[in-house]
Amino acid sequence: MKKIVFITGTRADFSKIKSLMIEIEKSNEFELFIFVTGMHMSKNFGYTAKEIYKSGFKNIYEFINHDKYYQMPAALASTIDGFSKFVNEIEPDLIVVHGDRIEPLAGALVGVLNNILVAHIEGGELSGTIDDSIRHSISKLAQIHLVNDELAKKRLIQLGEDKNSIFIIGSPDLDILSDNSISIEEAKAYYDITFKNYAIATFHPVVTELEFIKEQSEKFVNALIKSKKNYIVIYPNNDLGFEFILKSYEKLQNLSYFKIFPSLRFEYFITLLKNADFIIGNSSCILKEAVFLGVDGINIGSRQQKRNGLNKVMQSSYESDEILKAIQKVKKKEKTIHKKIKEKSSAKFIKLLKSGIFFKISKQKMFKDLKI
Ligand code: UDP
Repeated sequence: MKKIVFITGTRADFSKIKSLMIEIEKSNEFELFIFVTGMHMSKNFGYTAKEIYKSGFKNIYEFINHDKYYQMPAALASTIDGFSKFVNEIEPDLIVVHGDRIEPLAGALVGVLNNILVAHIEGGELSGTIDDSIRHSISKLAQIHLVNDELAKKRLIQLGEDKNSIFIIGSPDLDILSDNSISIEEAKAYYDITFKNYAIATFHPVVTELEFIKEQSEKFVNALIKSKKNYIVIYPNNDLGFEFILKSYEKLQNLSYFKIFPSLRFEYFITLLKNADFIIGNSSCILKEAVFLGVDGINIGSRQQKRNGLNKVMQSSYESDEILKAIQKVKKKEKTIHKKIKEKSSAKFIKLLKSGIFFKISKQKMFKDLKI
C-alpha cells in the first residue's frame, strides 16, 4: 500500500483537504497519515485538532510547532524539524499540502529535501498579500499541482511549471458544501446561538499592514457595534498582528448581540453561513463559500484584493463609516446556490491518484521557459 501523508495547520486547510482524505481512507490501495500542527494544536485558537479526530480518521499525529507567543519563523523552523522526523519514520510515497501557510511550506520543503513527491493543492491562486509569496514558493517546490481552474494553471505555467504536472480538480471545499446535512437548528443548538437573524464577522491581520492593524480592527469593531445587528464573530488566524484583533474583541465580550468563537466546525460553520444575513470581514470564504451559497458578502480592505469574484461582493475600506454604510445596504434576499458541481474534486483527485500518474512524475523538476 502506498503511504500518503497530509499536513494540516489550520481550519482553513483542513476544510479544503478533508474530502480528499476521506477518499484515501476509504480506498484499500493507500494508507493515509495526517500530520496535525499549527493553530490546530493551540488551546487559544480552539484546539481544532479535535475536529480531525471527530471526522473519524485513524493515523493522526499531533505536533506542537509553536510556544505561547506564536512566532511564524520559529514555527516554520520547528515544523520543518518535526515533520522531517515524522517523514523519516513513515517513509511516505507522497506528501500532500494545501494553500499558502507556513505548515504547507514546511511540508513541501521536507518532501523535496527528502526526495519525496509533493502534491500542492490550490496553487496558482492570488489573494494579494504575503500569502501569495508563500503559495508560489510552495508551488515552486511541489512536483505535482492540483489546481482550481484554467487561470490557476496558466499562472503556474507562467511560474515555469510543467503543464503536464498540473491537474485541474476544482475546489475541494465545495464538495463538503454540496453534501452538508447539518440543519440550522442543530448548528444553533450546538453553539448555543439564540439569535433569529445574525451576520458572521471574521477579520484577519494583513502582515504588511502591521502598524495599522490595531486601528483597523478597532474601526471594524466600532462599525459592528453601531450597526445594532447580531453577530457571530470568529477569531482571526495566527498571522503576525492577530493579538490586536483579539484585543479589540474584548469590547464585544459582554454585549448580548455578539457571540465570539475561536473557530466553528466546518459543516456547522457552513450551515450558519448559509442562513446568515451576510458575512463581513476579510476571510477568503466571503469570496468562495458565501458566493457559492448566495450569501451577501462585505469584503474589507486589501487582504483579498486579487481574488476572483470581487465583483460579486460589496467592498469597503477600513473606515467605520464606510463599513456601516455597506452593512446598511445589505438587503434580505432569497439565497440561490450559484454553481452546480458536475464531478467532485475528491472524485477527480482519487481517480488521478489511483491511475498512478502522480508516481510517474519526475522528482527532478525542470523550469519551463515561456516562448518569448
Ligand atoms: N471556517 C471554518 N470555521 C470557522 C471559520 C472558517 O470552518 O469558524 C472555514 C471557512 O469556510 C474557510 C476556511 O475555514 O473555508 C478558512 O477561512 P478563514 O477565514 O479562517 O481563513 P482564510 O481562508 O481567509 O485565510
